Amino acid sequence: MRILVTGTAGFIGFHVARRLLREGHEVTGIDGVTPYYDVMLKRARHARLREYAGFTCNEFMLEDAQALHDAFEQCRPEGVIHLAAQAGVRYGMENPGSYVSANLVGTYNVLEQARRCATPHLMIASTSSVYGANAVIPFAEDQRCDHPLSLYAATKKATEDLAHSYAHLWNLPITAFRFFTVYGPWGRPDMALFKFTANTLEGRPIDVYNNGDMERDFTYIDDIVEAIHRLATRPAPASGESDRGASPVAPYRVVNIGNGEPVSLMAFIQAIETALGRKCVCNYLPMQPGDVPRTWADCTALQDLTGFRPTTSVQAGVDAFVAWYRDYYGVPADA
Ligand code: NAD
Repeated sequence: MRILVTGTAGFIGFHVARRLLREGHEVTGIDGVTPYYDVMLKRARHARLREYAGFTCNEFMLEDAQALHDAFEQCRPEGVIHLAAQAGVRYGMENPGSYVSANLVGTYNVLEQARRCATPHLMIASTSSVYGANAVIPFAEDQRCDHPLSLYAATKKATEDLAHSYAHLWNLPITAFRFFTVYGPWGRPDMALFKFTANTLEGRPIDVYNNGDMERDFTYIDDIVEAIHRLATRPAPASGESDRGASPVAPYRVVNIGNGEPVSLMAFIQAIETALGRKCVCNYLPMQPGDVPRTWADCTALQDLTGFRPTTSVQAGVDAFVAWYRDYYGVPADA
């Protein structure tokens, strides 16, 4: 298949593109290689993907509608997986415009091209953050998501809403993935696992928000990729489906992709300590604006649709990340 993936220099996009390329699909990648975090890491991911003959690499911002038009023309994709975004919750306090530009204008441009080319299945990335601080747990796709607590959550919810309207108005089949805290090798330097590992190896304390009183449904990257792969290769949503997450009026569906087993932040830190063989020094801090106390995915829809649910234990996933980190940054096992 010819598949267009946005965000291929990013954490999840890199893994998704690599899986597709390994299976022999042709992948057109697009990424603006933004300076939100280490550009060298993003370039290294793209360099790995360029090793595959089936990979076409494009580096431009999604706000460039003409460049996006040309990439769609060249690829004529049979499927589009839109993962590029301004991610992160805390960054929005200083950089609100970045979220509006990448997540709203960028997604609008992708929707326009998918509509123009009548793309058979458009998949877009959303997030558990859209559930905000909802009290009903676990979070199920048919819950109301009315109170976004961050610019990130607000623009991602708006992304879903824009996508639904395109699905309804132009009969464009769309699946929205709500990812829950993704971690693993090649992970993001702005996220807890990377920061905690780097700081602890360098003898620096780690910032633990809300005094550690937080739960996250940490989901291992290989499980995310497996779920995306299964959803991408099953039939696209059709109008009139009635199961959980499906729109009653449009070929649109939203699917949680999470582990389904939340872990406390302190237990996560313990797993990092076990993997590193040393203690983390915790600097306890209050809750940060925009953060939510807990996330917990109801994975029933994912399981019903694909027969799959994530299985990787937090310890196994953290061990794999630490092994990658040591290898990538050349940190010896006894350091
Ligand atoms: P990432 O930041 O590693 O990847 C996003 C990529 O998009 C980056 O390489 C960046 O350069 C690119 N990008 C950003 N703005 C762009 C623009 N305007 N034009 C072109 N490229 C642009 O993030 P990730 O962790 O790989 O996340 C992938 C998707 O999954 C995002 O949509 C994110 O919101 C969503 N998500 C991630 C997580 C997680 O825990 N990693 C959780 C929930 C949702």
